[in-house]
Amino acid sequence: MSMYRDLSTSLRTIMTPGPVEAEPRVLRALSTPILGQFDPEFTNMMNETMEMLRKLFQTNNYWAFPIDGTSRAGIEAVLCSIIEPGDRVLVPIYGRFGHLLTEIAERYDAEVVTMETEWGEVFQPHDVIEEIKKVKPKIVAMVHGETSTGRMQPLKEIGEACRDMDVLFVVDAVASIGGTDVKVDEWKIDACIGGTQKCLSVPSGMAPITFNSRIESILLERKKIERGLADREEDKKRRRPVIRSNYFDLSQLMDYWSPIRLNHHTEATSMLYALREGLRIVLEEGLEERFLRHQLHEKALIKGIKAMGLELFGNAKYKLPVVTCITIPEGIDGEAVLSMLLEDFDIEIASSFGPLKGKIWRIGTMGFSCRKKNILHVLGALEAVLIRHGLKLHAGRAVQAALDVYDNEKCAVETI
Ligand SMILES: *Cc1c(COP(=O)(O)O)cnc(C)c1O
Repeated sequence: MSMYRDLSTSLRTIMTPGPVEAEPRVLRALSTPILGQFDPEFTNMMNETMEMLRKLFQTNNYWAFPIDGTSRAGIEAVLCSIIEPGDRVLVPIYGRFGHLLTEIAERYDAEVVTMETEWGEVFQPHDVIEEIKKVKPKIVAMVHGETSTGRMQPLKEIGEACRDMDVLFVVDAVASIGGTDVKVDEWKIDACIGGTQKCLSVPSGMAPITFNSRIESILLERKKIERGLADREEDKKRRRPVIRSNYFDLSQLMDYWSPIRLNHHTEATSMLYALREGLRIVLEEGLEERFLRHQLHEKALIKGIKAMGLELFGNAKYKLPVVTCITIPEGIDGEAVLSMLLEDFDIEIASSFGPLKGKIWRIGTMGFSCRKKNILHVLGALEAVLIRHGLKLHAGRAVQAALDVYDNEKCAVETI
């Protein structure tokens, strides 16, 4: 056994848009002994998790449960379960994850129509609504918090228009859920996908979703009962094409997450413990308090970055509160700065993708990572590293500006 050392990871300060530092209570929950998936103690936890997810998504939907797999598993489960070959899907794209929605919808043979806006911007709702009127899609799929550009798309008007025109509205709220408001019912979202490793501070590996009766009615028409499981007569009632994916078939997953408890896959026991604990922490803190905490630390970070003399990237009006993008200054090697932050300071921040590769850094302020100590550390370290790379900046101001925010803020939020 001498070849492989004991597991011993560095204690990083993780300020990326995910994965972020896990809540210590969540890590403890992960070491809880295994229960069988039909053990009443376990099914009770499943029910509790559903209840807490409804609160997180601010919905009265019955259906709210996690998909086993990372966030894109949740997106794929929703899209593959409602798309039938030839269905028209409109995807407004303003960053990387809009492209992901397109990729997934195309693989299930949707006729995808896209509209794009410059990275760093979002859509004006009326432009999307005009396009819906022209394209007449069955589904509009959109990202709420676009992590690649740090922007947040206003959704309410688009959701209302979709409902009026009887179009299904599917939203990727992977990055925003638990860090800023996501009002599923009020914004008329028919299906919404969240993430665990971002603002919930649970490791990656599950994707909480919720959907309403408009989606449910499609699923019931496509419902599949696996051979060897239950009444085969039931299976003959199917009126629409079977869902192409077995693993992501929401009609089967509904049977497992309802009192029928019809077996599908083996539930990821330890991840469910982790998600349940993460949700308990979110609800103990309170959604409103939690969103205010994210805003406070965002403000301290922004003030610090500006005081240093750096520039923020993107349209400030539509900034995603949990991701802050910085324009990499002329003549600075963005990757070298990231490496030095990691190697010398144990701090991880991110670069970006596609047209923004090499142009911006992204700092996440999500969940447990979003706290005063981390903000002060990242500002102090970034300043030191940039000076080391020869950048002329306003030395010594960044951390002071952030401290001013914490001192002055007449905010009831506890600065953990
Ligand atoms: C992170 C992220 C995803 C993908 O999540 P995975 O867990 O890596 O599958 C999708 N959409 C958005 C907006 C994200 O931020």
